[in-house]
Amino acid sequence: MTDSKKVIEILLRIAREMEEQKDFLTELDNVIGDGDHGINMARGFAEVQRKMDTLSEQDIGAILKSVGMTLVSTVGGASGPLYGTAFLKAGMTIGAKNEIEISDFLAALNAAIEGIKTRGRSTIGEKTMLDAMIPAYEVMLLAADSGEPDCRKVLDAGVAAAEAGVEHTKTLVATKGRASYLGERSIGHQDPGATSFTAMLKVIAESF
Ligand code: ADP
Ligand code: MG
Repeated sequence: MTDSKKVIEILLRIAREMEEQKDFLTELDNVIGDGDHGINMARGFAEVQRKMDTLSEQDIGAILKSVGMTLVSTVGGASGPLYGTAFLKAGMTIGAKNEIEISDFLAALNAAIEGIKTRGRSTIGEKTMLDAMIPAYEVMLLAADSGEPDCRKVLDAGVAAAEAGVEHTKTLVATKGRASYLGERSIGHQDPGATSFTAMLKVIAESF
């Protein structure tokens, strides 16, 4: 499915996408949080982008772990440690591989989700990034299970589920993170973290 070079290329595209989505993500966070999600993600991935040159000889696990450490150390707020943990766990799961299949990607995403749940003491239905990640993971797991899976089809199904997950966050009351301070008033607004995850998954899907 993907080698180290391609993983780096995808990470650079994600960095570009986070820069492009910066204002939109910040606007979303302005409504139910403190208006820094886009700034946080763009800053973190700009640093990831700077590090990529030094990682071209590394295996995929090491590349992802480096992304995780970079996000933990450069992004403030909740999303830095959470996305950082997600990439660290994904890297630990993939390990010293130079090529991965869709099954490795799904194992990594599952580890990322579990990492966020533990670190964030959060679960599905609390209006967070998990509300895009978990449905996307579940749909992709099913799609990948059907004989010879077509990577692009699996990832596209994941993107559609993540987008539906983002829509669904509008109906949820936030019970985790800053948005939880708003309580019922968070209803009607989509979650910024679910939105940034969906943008990332879209970049991954479009790279195939
Ligand atoms: P902060 O909330 O510290 O300002 P960001 O604005 O960068 O950090 O990120 C906010 C996003 O982080 C939310 O939209 C939500 O998706 C996610 N988030 C916050 N707390 C949690 C948590 N405990 N578990 C999972 N995701 C969370
Ligand atoms: Mg914020």
